Amino acid sequence: MPTIASLFENTVSKYPDRPALACGASTLSYAAWNARVRRFAQALFNLGVRQMDRVAILQKTSEATPTAYMACQLLGAIAVPMNHRLSPDEAAYILRDAGARAVIYDDAMLPLMGKMVLALPDLRTFIRVRSAASDVSDVSGASGASGASGAPDAPGLPKHHHCFEALIDGATRLDAPLPQPGAEDISAIVYTSGTTGRPKGAIHTHGNDVAIATNCVMEYSLTCTDVALHIAPLYHVGGMQAYFLPHMVVGAANVILPRYTALTTLEAIARHRVTTLFAVPTQIQDMLFHPDFAAMDVSSLRMITTGGAAIAAATMQRVIHEFCPRVFNGYGMTEASLTLLLHPRDALAHLGSCGKPTLISTCRVIRNDPERRVAASETLAAGEVGQLIVRGPQLVARYWNDPAETEKKFRDGWLYTGDLFSVDDAGYFHFHGRADDMIVSGGENIYPREIEEVLYHCPGVQEAAVIGLPDPKWGQAVTAFVVKSDIDLLAAEVIAFCKASLTSYKCPKQVFFLDQLPRNPSGKILRRELAPQPGVSA
Ligand code: ATP
Ligand code: MG
Repeated sequence: MPTIASLFENTVSKYPDRPALACGASTLSYAAWNARVRRFAQALFNLGVRQMDRVAILQKTSEATPTAYMACQLLGAIAVPMNHRLSPDEAAYILRDAGARAVIYDDAMLPLMGKMVLALPDLRTFIRVRSAASDVSDVSGASGASGASGAPDAPGLPKHHHCFEALIDGATRLDAPLPQPGAEDISAIVYTSGTTGRPKGAIHTHGNDVAIATNCVMEYSLTCTDVALHIAPLYHVGGMQAYFLPHMVVGAANVILPRYTALTTLEAIARHRVTTLFAVPTQIQDMLFHPDFAAMDVSSLRMITTGGAAIAAATMQRVIHEFCPRVFNGYGMTEASLTLLLHPRDALAHLGSCGKPTLISTCRVIRNDPERRVAASETLAAGEVGQLIVRGPQLVARYWNDPAETEKKFRDGWLYTGDLFSVDDAGYFHFHGRADDMIVSGGENIYPREIEEVLYHCPGVQEAAVIGLPDPKWGQAVTAFVVKSDIDLLAAEVIAFCKASLTSYKCPKQVFFLDQLPRNPSGKILRRELAPQPGVSA
C-alpha cells in the first residue's frame, strides 16, 4: 500500500524541477525541498528519533512546517502538528498527552519551552526555528543557522536544544532504507479544534492520509499546474491532510503565507497567480469586507474551497459573484476529513447545503439519540433532522489516550459526528448545527443556523451567532450576537427584520452587538463564550 512518503517520492521523481514551496521571496523546487526534508529526517534520526516517536510541530506556519512534517513521514515518526495560538496550559496538555519526544518550535514559543523542560521530562529534544526561517532565501543561505550545535540563546533551556537550520546544514541526506511504515501505522496525531471541550487526538494512519489525499485530488481535479495558497492552519486536517498533501502528491506549487491577513492573502493571490484557495468562512468574510477587495486581481483563481464551519448562504452568493465563480463548500472533521462536498456546479442551485458525500465517504442521517445504538441502516426520511454518521477509508479508528470518547464516537465502523443534518429529496445534505447547540424554547426545537442565515441577509450585519440563554418563561430564549458592518443598526431593527421571515418563536428575543465574535484559531465560533454585554442591547 502506498504511504504519504512513497507518494512524495513519486512526486519528486516526476517533477524535480517544478516549484514545490514558495515562502517569502524564494521558491524551492521539489528536488531542493526533498533534499531539505531528507537532511532534516537524518538529523532527527541522529538525535535519536525513531519510528512511532511523537514529534510535535509547534510554530507559526513557515517552510519548516511541511519540511518537518514530511521528515517525520519518511522516518516513520508520528507528527503532532500543534496550534501555536494555544495557551501555555493547553499546549502543555497536548505535549504531555501525545508523549512528545521532540518539539520543533519558533521564537514566539521560547517562554513556553523553558517551562516544558521542567514539566515534561520525556520531551528531550528541542528544535528552534528562527523567525527569519519564514523566508526561504534566508534559511537556505548562511544566515539563520547559529553554528553546528545550534544553541539558541534562551535562558532556561537545556543543553540539548538545536537550531532547525543548523541541523539541516549539518546533516547528510537520509537515503538509507529504513523499515517503511505500513498503511496501518500511525502517520500523525491531529488534535481537534477544542470547540466543545478539550482537544482530542485523532490518530491518523498512513492509509487514512493516502485516502484523504487521493479523495481531494479527485474531488478538486488537482494537477501539477495548480498553485495553492496556504492560509488555513497546517496543524488542522483541513490545512495539511486535505489541502497541502493533495497538492503535494500531484506536484503542484504551494505558497505558504506565514502571516495571514486579508490583504496579504489578496496580494499573494495576485503575485503568485494562485489557482486554488482554501479559506475558512471567517477568512472569506475578512476578504470580502476588506476596503481594497474590489481593486485586487484575483482572476487567476480557478477555485475556492471553504469549510470547517458553516458559511452563510448570503456569503456564499457574494463569493460566487464577486470573488471566484467556482466555489466548493466542504464539510469535514479532524476524525474524518473531507466528507461532504458541495460542488461549484451545484453551489447556486443548492445554496446553504454541504452537498453530497465525497467519493470515498458513506454518510447517513439517523435519529439523534446519544444513548441508543441506532442501527446504521435506520436512516431518516427526507427533510427530517438527525445525526450524521460517516464511514470510509479516511476515518480514524480512535482517539489517542481516550477510550471513553472513542467508545462514544466510534461504533461498528461508523463515526458519530454529533452534527445535525437533514437530507433533501435530491440527496443534498443540510447542516443544522451541532446537536449540543440546539435551542429548545417553549418546547420547540430551534436550530441556530436557521436564524443566523436570516441575520446574514439583514443589511448592516457583518457576522452573527445565535444561542439560547436561560429564560424562566421559555426555558431558553433565542439570543443573537451581531457584528455590524459600516451601516448603523439598532437591535429593534434586527428583530423586525427577523420577524419578516421567521415564525415568532424563532425570532431573537434579544440582540447584542459585539466588535467581533469569539472564535478559536480555526475560525469556529465559541458559543460557550457568548454572553450578554451590559449596556449594549436593546
Ligand atoms: P472539538 O471536536 O474538539 O470540539 P471541532 O469539532 O470544532 O472541535 P474540528 O474537527 O476541527 O473540531 O471541526 C469539525 C466540526 O466543524 C464539525 O463537526 C462541524 O461541526 C464543523 N464543520 C466543519 N465543516 C463544516 C461545514 N462546511 N459547515 C458547517 N460546519 C462544519
Ligand atoms: Mg469535533
